[in-house]
Amino acid sequence: MKTEHIRCLIIGSGPAGYTAAIYASRSNLQPVLYEGIQPGGQLTTTTEVENFPGYPDGVNPFDMMSDFRRQAERFGAEIRSGEVTKVDFSRQDGVLKVWIDNDLQIDADAVIVATGASAKYLGLETEQTYKGKGVSACATCDGFFYRKKTVAVVGGGDTACEEALYLSSLCKQVYLIVRKPFLRASEIMQQRVKEKENITILFEHNTLRLTGNDKVEGADLVYRKGEKDERQVHIDIDGFFLAIGHTPNSALFSDYLKTDSQGYILTDGDTPKTNVEGVFAAGDVADPRYRQAITAAASGCKAAIEAEKYLQ
Ligand code: NDP
Repeated sequence: MKTEHIRCLIIGSGPAGYTAAIYASRSNLQPVLYEGIQPGGQLTTTTEVENFPGYPDGVNPFDMMSDFRRQAERFGAEIRSGEVTKVDFSRQDGVLKVWIDNDLQIDADAVIVATGASAKYLGLETEQTYKGKGVSACATCDGFFYRKKTVAVVGGGDTACEEALYLSSLCKQVYLIVRKPFLRASEIMQQRVKEKENITILFEHNTLRLTGNDKVEGADLVYRKGEKDERQVHIDIDGFFLAIGHTPNSALFSDYLKTDSQGYILTDGDTPKTNVEGVFAAGDVADPRYRQAITAAASGCKAAIEAEKYLQ
């Protein structure tokens, strides 16, 4: 197998990875960034980005990530397509080992993990049909497109309540589809949701399918109470928001990097330092709380600054 030595390896091509590449290349670390299976990251699943500073008229997420990429390349970062298939951070030979597509071994001095997180979906066929056409996993990103419209949010946790509250300030009507007879969210969030006149909570409802022509126009739900009471319900909606949790893309590193109970990589205080010296985590893979492009970019910047200090 071919082996290559790299000073600063960046894994992931969302805002965190590319920002790390911009800073690392300007610090002369000759970074190499691997894009992974979703070049541009989670942002590319949305239709328009309107809340990233510097784009007053909004921006197509592909254009934005292409700008990030060009900016990194301008200072010498090397962007490669390829997927990390295995790592060995035990530092047995003093280096951090990373395998790409099972056919290249990289010996790195520093690694920035910016592999992001993936929103969970229900697994319905129609979810895929309408992805970006009424189906979204981020109210903060896409809610604005549903002003004065009717939307549904799926989930009963803090994220679902937060998204429902956010959407209730923009939309005419919000349905909260909860599979259990109660919310799992914190008391205060539950209270706020229940007090909002334009939020209707549909307890013990599950989504069967989304309906519509070229975009979401409705959802068929099933209401189930016990074994006997079961009926189908249809709601007319313009948007369908998933808020049933995220999965941080950290499984590959779990033998070496400490994570919380949900798999988010733990970092040292406000820094991107992980428990392995020379390995830094940036963006959503280490952030269960904010999950925004701008906060991911900021943590990518921090990771590159720390990597530079470490390599010195
Ligand atoms: P959670 O895991 O807390 O909640 C997920 C919700 O989605 C649950 O109600 C769950 O139902 C439901 N769900 C899961 N799978 C399905 C499915 N297939 N069909 C229907 N419903 C489903 O995730 P969150 O993202 O809400 O929160 C993650 C963590 O982040 C939590 O610890 C939360 O407290 C925290 N958080 C804190 C915030 C804050 O403090 N402001 C804001 C947002 C999150 P069920 O209950 O039946 O399992």
